[in-house]
Amino acid sequence: MGLLIDSDVCNGCRICELACSFHHRGVFAPDHSSVKVFSDYREGKIQLIVDGTCDLCPKDPQPMCVQYCVIGALKKGAKE
Ligand code: SF4
Ligand code: SF4
Repeated sequence: MGLLIDSDVCNGCRICELACSFHHRGVFAPDHSSVKVFSDYREGKIQLIVDGTCDLCPKDPQPMCVQYCVIGALKKGAKE
């Protein structure tokens, strides 16, 4: 089980970083986020990287980043 990312859908808004840092520390501070959003404006590409601090938000019905990614670029599911 892990965090599944659809980078074709992601628009790079970085709200997931804020949601994740709030989950971990109770603050809106992207430095404390398990998910990081990298936008290459020249190439028009967005990449998301999830590091080892991601715990999949076990106390929440849905991970915080999934709840607040309103366009549905994130979901929790089985990794292939
Ligand atoms: S909240 Fe969703 S759309 Fe916004 S950067 Fe994160 S994954 Fe992408
Ligand atoms: S699942 Fe939870 S811990 Fe993992 S990146 Fe999303 S908000 Fe952060």
